[in-house]
Amino acid sequence: MKLYNLKEPQEQVSFGQAVRQGLGRNQGLFFPSELPELGDIDALLEMDFVSRSSKILSAFIGDELASETVSQMVSSAFQFPAPIAKVKDSVYALELFHGPTLAFKDFGGRFMAQSLAAVSDSNGKVTILTATSGDTGAAVAHAFYGMDNIKVVILYPKGKISPLQEKLFCTLGGNIHTVAVNGTFDDCQALVKKAFDDAELRQEVGLNSANSINISRLMAQICYYFEAVSQLPKAQRGNLVISVPSGNFGNLTAGLLAKALGLPVKRFIVATNANDTVPRYLKTGEWTPTATIPTISNAMDVSEPNNWPRIEELCQLKGWGLDELGYGAVTDEQTAETLREMNAEGYLCEPHGAIAYRVLNEQLQDGETGLFLCTAHPAKFKEVVDEILDIDVDLPAPLAKHGAMELLSLERDNDFDQLKAVLQSVQD
Ligand SMILES: *Cc1c(COP(=O)(O)O)cnc(C)c1O
Repeated sequence: MKLYNLKEPQEQVSFGQAVRQGLGRNQGLFFPSELPELGDIDALLEMDFVSRSSKILSAFIGDELASETVSQMVSSAFQFPAPIAKVKDSVYALELFHGPTLAFKDFGGRFMAQSLAAVSDSNGKVTILTATSGDTGAAVAHAFYGMDNIKVVILYPKGKISPLQEKLFCTLGGNIHTVAVNGTFDDCQALVKKAFDDAELRQEVGLNSANSINISRLMAQICYYFEAVSQLPKAQRGNLVISVPSGNFGNLTAGLLAKALGLPVKRFIVATNANDTVPRYLKTGEWTPTATIPTISNAMDVSEPNNWPRIEELCQLKGWGLDELGYGAVTDEQTAETLREMNAEGYLCEPHGAIAYRVLNEQLQDGETGLFLCTAHPAKFKEVVDEILDIDVDLPAPLAKHGAMELLSLERDNDFDQLKAVLQSVQD
């Protein structure tokens, strides 16, 4: 597999390099130079999730990794289903929250972990260092847990993430090291940045960021779009419209890549909260990000979405006009109203999925089938969902289990020397 840097196209890398580096020169995103031919799509849709996903990812990666290796990576990463649920006539939810941290980020995070393990020098040291305000840390911790040749260090601001979130990733132990920093999330990010700026330390412990724009994540996410279509009744596959709740636009990029690989999708809809840079851009042609606005769908509180350049590139390559994308932005009040409406229809959702559902409903036409992505389990946003619906959402098994376990975090000051000592000690 070859990829190029969108900012400096002369920089070309292999899959392994793209996975290890994350970003190219000048902070440029990597993009595949060629899309594979998948052959008969109907036959592909007949396969089971893991076999089909192995086939897609192996076709993408090419001869850099043996297809048996890719199959093993996929079976280890995708150990939970991505079922669709019928919400009402012609409208289906794609439930992406059945993984260990109850959000779709488990798919990308776990495949990225497998990829990094597969392309890293087995004798070299690898330390993943990341700062989190909650969600990302949990997905990264669970994705790398048990890969003993890769050490993970996660910083978070002490007392500033929800107790349940903290339990979800600070109770694992093994190769996962969590550090409660006496400071803010910004302090944690600054510490991480300082570590990456320290060339000597970077080399000594093999620092890697495993960050969210890693191409391996997007590749994994392509697979559940195929999985969704495979579950639709055949008669409903023809006029499919997919609504994607978007923040950093990784999910939409993966959906468009799935379409570029031959998945039959009539149209995609961009659904955002009040952080509506993209809907405004699609309407006016002007890219004018504003300050980020906090909302109840906080995983989408992003006003400068990182993945957007990949979408522009793909649309240009395929000759798709940006005007083919549907779009809509939803306020918190409308999100709450939609959650109540869905609950009355018998489907319990959370704010991110509800936003996608609302815009889909507004724009779905006669004869079309709608699919919207449910990106997190309702229990993950329990406080908000309980209050809006006046219910008490049950904790699913992973949350309940970790809730009863002991916290294993170290506590450190906002001090680079203390972080450095932690990084050196986990590699001893
Ligand atoms: C990360 C996240 C999103 C946004 O996905 P992008 O790929 O960044 O657009 C939506 N919902 C939830 C629950 C998330 O965690």
